[in-house]
Amino acid sequence: MIDDMSEAGRAQRLLGAALPDGLVNLPNDATMLMGFQRRLTALIDAVHRLKLIDQSTAVERAWLESCSGPTAGAFLRICPGLIGPSVRMSPREFTTTCLRRLFLPLPELAHTSARAGLCPALPAAGGRPCTRACDNRGAHLTTCATGGGAVIIHDTVNDALANFGFRQVYPPNLVLSKRSEIREHLLQKFGLRLARNAQLPFPTPDVMTLGEETLYVDTRITDPRGDSNMAQGAAAADGAGAGAAAEAAAAQKLADYRQAFEGNFMRETQFAPFVMEHGGRLSKSADKILRRLAALHEAKLLNSPPSNKLGPVGNRFLTMIRQIMSATLHKATSRRILTVSDRVLFTQASRARDGGEFRVLDALTIAEAVSGLG
Ligand SMILES: [Zn+2]
Repeated sequence: MIDDMSEAGRAQRLLGAALPDGLVNLPNDATMLMGFQRRLTALIDAVHRLKLIDQSTAVERAWLESCSGPTAGAFLRICPGLIGPSVRMSPREFTTTCLRRLFLPLPELAHTSARAGLCPALPAAGGRPCTRACDNRGAHLTTCATGGGAVIIHDTVNDALANFGFRQVYPPNLVLSKRSEIREHLLQKFGLRLARNAQLPFPTPDVMTLGEETLYVDTRITDPRGDSNMAQGAAAADGAGAGAAAEAAAAQKLADYRQAFEGNFMRETQFAPFVMEHGGRLSKSADKILRRLAALHEAKLLNSPPSNKLGPVGNRFLTMIRQIMSATLHKATSRRILTVSDRVLFTQASRARDGGEFRVLDALTIAEAVSGLG
């Protein structure tokens, strides 16, 4: 609900801030008007923005906030010539990512059972199908664990962090990024290998460095539109929601590793959660990791001790790694959606052929696929 009075009051207050002192008629002194158009445009933007935020639902706000922050939209500025093929998006992946960013329904999902609110993810052989409700913006599908989809997205992001981040800075052979390898290493290191049912008393990290500096990173991808995140976001009330899902997941990770700190297996300062929200926003701890890698890269290149204040070399690295992480996440999530959609199309096409009537897809279905945003 929008209160017209408060809307008008707010606009007036903003107008007062934008205009030169007490301006009613245009002043004779032209210097008073310097930057006037810019201020007026900013004012109009601000009024529209407030109005839109007032009108948006909690889910829309959560998604908007998740699409903010330095890494979220970094994929948009990526230069394909500089970025390797593993990170480069296909035109379809790019389109899907842009649609998701704009919170528009995905035409690909209109062919699948997602249209009826059912999850189209195919379970692995012998696995059970997903019974959760599915939306047409990909919120559920990109987080759904059925058929290993969510794990693939997680591992893809984690590999990018290890390869384009850690292995650029640390000697590559001193960076572990396979969980089985890390688990084995830690069991050996802490002398737990000998025990029957050898087990780590804490979760297995996703990245670990060996050698002079031992660091542990646990990677997590979370969606601000998930049920528990929405409940928390609602509790956080207006404005404070940006990054709430990422911070909640980071806090949970620290709690999960409590045993490791208390048992002196690792110091809390050696551990950091790397959390990315599906919109692209990073947890504070994740941004700190990227900044730390940039500082180490700069120090290595300039042969100087790492500094907290990044110079041009460090900033270039930071921009690059942010673009890579952004593109990797969005590429992986788009692929998940497109793979499901392509499988459904293929199945429909082959069924139609079995019926004796050769028909790949009818015209209406194709029209819907390319234009049906409704
Ligand atoms: Zn599902």
